[in-house]
Amino acid sequence: MADVLTKAIQYTDPQQAREAGLYPYFVEIEESTGNQIKINGQWKINLGSNNYLGLTHHPEVMKAAQEAIRKYGAGCTGSRFLNGTLDLHVQAEQALAEFVHKPAAVIFPTGYQTNVGIISTLVGPREFVCIDKLVHASIIDGCMQARGTTILFKHNDARDLERQLEKKKDSAVLVVVDGVYSMEGDICRLPDIVDVCKKYGARIMVDDAHALGVLGERGAGTAEHFGLTNKVDLIMATFSKSLASIGGFVASDFEVIDYLKHKARSLIFSASIPPPAIATVYKALEILKREPDRIQRLWDNATYLADNLRKLNFNLGKTESPVIPVIIGEDIKTFKVWRALFDLGVYVNPVIAPAVPPGTARLRVSCIATHEKEELDRALEIFETVGKKFKLI
Ligand code: PMP
Repeated sequence: MADVLTKAIQYTDPQQAREAGLYPYFVEIEESTGNQIKINGQWKINLGSNNYLGLTHHPEVMKAAQEAIRKYGAGCTGSRFLNGTLDLHVQAEQALAEFVHKPAAVIFPTGYQTNVGIISTLVGPREFVCIDKLVHASIIDGCMQARGTTILFKHNDARDLERQLEKKKDSAVLVVVDGVYSMEGDICRLPDIVDVCKKYGARIMVDDAHALGVLGERGAGTAEHFGLTNKVDLIMATFSKSLASIGGFVASDFEVIDYLKHKARSLIFSASIPPPAIATVYKALEILKREPDRIQRLWDNATYLADNLRKLNFNLGKTESPVIPVIIGEDIKTFKVWRALFDLGVYVNPVIAPAVPPGTARLRVSCIATHEKEELDRALEIFETVGKKFKLI
């Protein structure tokens, strides 16, 4: 008999990278202030998080998490459906729906499960889901679990979307885009995409994982940024970025949310987010509403960092958001640059295929609203040193 474990036993890439001192994954963080993280006893400037608004370490957020543990215990130990719904979950759902200007919302255990749940539940047999080529992996996995058929359209290309929809004009189609693309940092051309969807009667869903707390006057995301909230059918986002926690939600019309609440398997068959996590979301949202200037501080930091990296001649692709890719090309070179930055005190994320197209390996750099200018200047100095050493600039 063949052995299902052979592939694992023969998979030596990570071990080779470890032996070469270039392994960049599962790095253990010993302590964190948000802006900086301690690894192997040394503090590094953290340009590798999604903690856009810096709320993970806000005193009120941490206090809310502690109080929730005192009141409800450490975990929910069950699904929202049966025994895992706290009043806090329902209050947060109402607050989130109101925030993104939709009638209703439901919270899932993670953003990943939110996407998988929405798409696999809504796209049935003989129906279609049409996705931008560069959407997040969780959307692709949702498509793979859906009983309908997946169609791709060229990245941010409404004309290609139109070509695809023209071929399916008598069918039911859900179009899915990211608001901010997580590895490119560019923003969805939502007005053009909405026009095409409306022309053909397709429904549209936006993944605002990197747009909530980042885009829009109040931080309500891509639809708010473009003034198109009423034209987008479903808005989803995660709590693992601006909202400083874990979990995800989708907001839409009441009937759509009620359907998902009773049919989405990734919601029903998985435990709800624990008391400190949901208390964090609720408090983080309250702070975002109260202190919208945090969004401006995030953009000021991101613009400062990107402008200066560009001045140094780094290739940042088409970014137009606080997601800043530093494109390097080859995988091994990317790991070497990552390691050199790491050794000098800057933490970023190396990203290779299949997360990005082959040959476009990159460092994913992102800053936090609370980063001080001195921290960004120090990081830029280190980037300059490393960039010269590896002939990137
Ligand atoms: N969508 C996008 C665009 C993402 O970047 C991510 C996470 N990186 C997710 C969904 C999944 O979110 P979560 O971390 O909550 O599972």
